[in-house]
Amino acid sequence: MSDQKGFVVWMTGLSGSGKSTIAMAMIPKLKARGVNFERLDGDVVRASLTRDLGFTKEDRAMNIERVTFVAKLLSRNNVGCICSFISPYQSVRDSVRSQVTNFIEVYVNAPLEVCEDRDVKGMYKLAREGKIKNFTGISDPFEAPENADVEIKTDGMTVDESAEQLIKYLEENGYIPTLA
Ligand code: ADP
Repeated sequence: MSDQKGFVVWMTGLSGSGKSTIAMAMIPKLKARGVNFERLDGDVVRASLTRDLGFTKEDRAMNIERVTFVAKLLSRNNVGCICSFISPYQSVRDSVRSQVTNFIEVYVNAPLEVCEDRDVKGMYKLAREGKIKNFTGISDPFEAPENADVEIKTDGMTVDESAEQLIKYLEENGYIPTLA
């Protein structure tokens, strides 16, 4: 029998704000604490489970709907889910909250200019040139969380500090054990 609680860390934020990077940085920290977890990442999911979907409001909602189904099954079976999805609509995030076990809304917040400057995948440039449509922050809306459980301002802090902020929250709220 596991005494681990299921939870869903839901990282929302602009492209390039740091969601995937923080998720990766959390892996060794969760492993060190013996936590059972799965990582669900926008880019990975869109290459598999939801590869038929695009970026209209409807397709974005469907993308999250399918991911929510997975997170619901995992979290109710005591698995921690580390999710990184732009998920720009508050109503969609609220819907995830209502369906999964122990939803934690994490606003990975970096100013648009910073994300654009980082331009990790070269997509902001293409979006500015009009070559990518429905690009969040440029030609599509991003509704910042109204009541995030955690806000991580990645501009001006290291990746490790960002991951630690989240680990600390999970520890303080009893979702994961502290290191022995
Ligand atoms: P997202 O998954 O939100 O689209 P990525 O994680 O792919 O964003 O990219 C974030 C970029 O910002 C990476 O190049 C990362 O190294 C950089 N970065 C700088 N500081 C931080 C931080 N404190 N936390 C996360 N990423 C950071």
